[in-house]
Formats: sequence, C-alpha cells, structure tokens
Amino acid sequence: MKLDNVVYRYSKADSTHPRAKKSSKPILYTINENNCWEVFSHHKDKDGYVRVLRRINGQKKMFYLHRLVFEIEKHKIPDGLVVLHACDNPGCINPEHLSCGTVADNAADMKNKGRSLKGSLNGNSKLSAQDVLAIRNDPRDALAVAKEFGITRTHVYYLRAYKNWKHIGGNELNDAN
Ligand SMILES: [Zn+2]
Repeated sequence: MKLDNVVYRYSKADSTHPRAKKSSKPILYTINENNCWEVFSHHKDKDGYVRVLRRINGQKKMFYLHRLVFEIEKHKIPDGLVVLHACDNPGCINPEHLSCGTVADNAADMKNKGRSLKGSLNGNSKLSAQDVLAIRNDPRDALAVAKEFGITRTHVYYLRAYKNWKHIGGNELNDAN
C-alpha cells in the first residue's frame, strides 16, 4: 500500500556533491509505508541497488546512489566502510535508513535479516511492542541488544531513534507492569 502517489525528486544529487555534477536524469522516488524512498527513475542492479552514471574527469563511472545520498546527507564514507540499509530495502535512499558500517556489520546484517529485520520493518513485525520497549529501555549498547533480539545493530539505532513504532512511548513499559 502506498501512502500517496506523490512523486519526489531528489535534487541535491544534481548539485551538492562532486560526483553529482552533470546529472542528466532526475532522480525520482515515491515514499512507501515504511518511509522508504523508493527510486523508480533509474535501473537497479541484480541486488536491487540503484546505480547512477556520473562523468568524472571525462570518464563515465557508475556509482551506487545510496552511497552518494549518504555522502550528501551525512559525511564521506570512510575507506573500507559500506553503507547499510536499516530497512533491508536496497532501492531505498532515505538518509534516515542509511548508516555506515564495516563489512562485518554488513555480514551480520545479512545474517540477521534472514531472521527478523525484514519482517519487523515491513509490517509483519516479529518484534512485539514489549520487545520494542525493552530495546529502547535496555541500557546495554546496541550490538548486545541486537544480538539478543536477533536484529541488526542498525535496526536498534533505528528503533531507539523512534523512526518506527512511534506510537510506543518510553514510559509504557512501566505503566504495563
Ligand atoms: Zn528504507
């Protein structure tokens, strides 16, 4: 289900990043129920990632759009790090769903995604409201909590930032007990 049929244009990619110059094709996306920015104007590779063509010093090169967006919205990706999708939606370029991590983080993500990340961000949640409260109130760091709940560390950050499950407040656990 789409929230609306509004088409958005990601215009920053046309202007504010050195790799973004000479963008000939507008980047268009819609926003789905998970607040994913789903690009439909560009082709996706076999893994579902959106690639854009850029001309650097006269040479055409392909770049991953989500990496470009991450650098535009946040910071340069340090060497050797990858950009992770908290939403498990490779075609998504919502900066709030993107984070930087190591290849090991990514491998852990992939492993965990098979278990619960996908469901929990796509509507068929395997996390209960109690789980979400517990995650938010857990004093341990995100990695420890992620392991216990079988979700990614990125997802823990995501939950703690109230990017989803917004209706579950921080005090409800106490009310329930
Ligand atoms: Zn997303």
